[in-house]
Amino acid sequence: MKAILVHEFGGPEVLKLEEVPTPKPAAGQVLVRIHAVGVNPYDTYMRAGTYAVKPPLPYTPGSDAAGVIETIGDGVKKVKPGDRVYTAKTVSGAYAEYTLALEEQVHSLSEKISFGQGAGVWVPCGTAYHALHHSAEAHASETVLVHGASGGVGIAAVQMARAMGLTVFGTAGTSKGVELVKREGAHQVFDHSKAGYQEEILKATGGRGVDIVLEMLANVNLSADLKLLATNGRVIIIGNRGEITINPRDLMLRRASARGFTLWAITPAEEAEIHAGLIAGLENGTLRPIVGKELPLAQAARAHKEILQPGAAGKIVLVP
Ligand code: NAP
Repeated sequence: MKAILVHEFGGPEVLKLEEVPTPKPAAGQVLVRIHAVGVNPYDTYMRAGTYAVKPPLPYTPGSDAAGVIETIGDGVKKVKPGDRVYTAKTVSGAYAEYTLALEEQVHSLSEKISFGQGAGVWVPCGTAYHALHHSAEAHASETVLVHGASGGVGIAAVQMARAMGLTVFGTAGTSKGVELVKREGAHQVFDHSKAGYQEEILKATGGRGVDIVLEMLANVNLSADLKLLATNGRVIIIGNRGEITINPRDLMLRRASARGFTLWAITPAEEAEIHAGLIAGLENGTLRPIVGKELPLAQAARAHKEILQPGAAGKIVLVP
């Protein structure tokens, strides 16, 4: 089979398309024929060797794929050959024509959801679910600002929060992104590339502030986010690429909090809840992953460059 291999940490050019043996599932494992692979920002940090999780080399990147069960190992009960699935982590890596996964790493993919969309389920939608339900403990009637709403996590968060009954504000950095975030359910959308947009957000709350900020770029926005919070507000730090100075008094004045998490550290009970919630959302249409761009697997390096550039409009997906 064809697979992307990383033999040394480095720039996008270390992603090499190679011919490797197709793996065989051991007991408790399944082999998935991949139809689409989701590219996530963390794939680029891991490839660069700067991420907290450093896989042994060589490795095949990727945790998010959608496809069909090809074969199953002994004892597998959850799925059978021919079943449509999405993956949440894999054993052998998702940037490939086939991937080995543990039985518990594959989840049923509704017929209503294309494989491209299925490749955008685990990390983006799982993160949005964990942020809203577990971290922010969001509830209907609250106001959420999805700060960075045009990308994979942001669009999922907008769709979910809207379905949960929150008032949803989103931001994007291009007019295309702004339109997409509006279309996917945000009540109001602001352009984070324009000076003074934070004052517009505060004005839109009548000066009260927002209850929740889901933050995609904390090293740029955290200080300003704290000033946008209502009493008992919370900032949930999802994305961060550096350091920032904040004034803790902004939290004290508002009885507010800033929390962070990494999806790698969720508990098995949280993960089970997340999949149940996502599968229901995909079935009932409240969760609709958006594929912004499809590229052939051979162009993984291009995908790694583009995912870090401004102008997000949904997911970048690789097709083997
Ligand atoms: P993505 O698809 O690349 O989207 C990036 C988003 O950030 C876009 O909406 C982009 O908007 C926005 N952005 C760019 N500049 C911004 C600014 N100055 N202020 C606010 N937003 C800005 O990435 P993603 O998959 O949604 O992930 C978002 C972040 O969360 C990444 O840093 C990722 O590594 C992180 N993440 C963390 C976890 C975790 O476990 N904690 C899980 C998943 C993702 P424009 O392009 O329109 O400017």
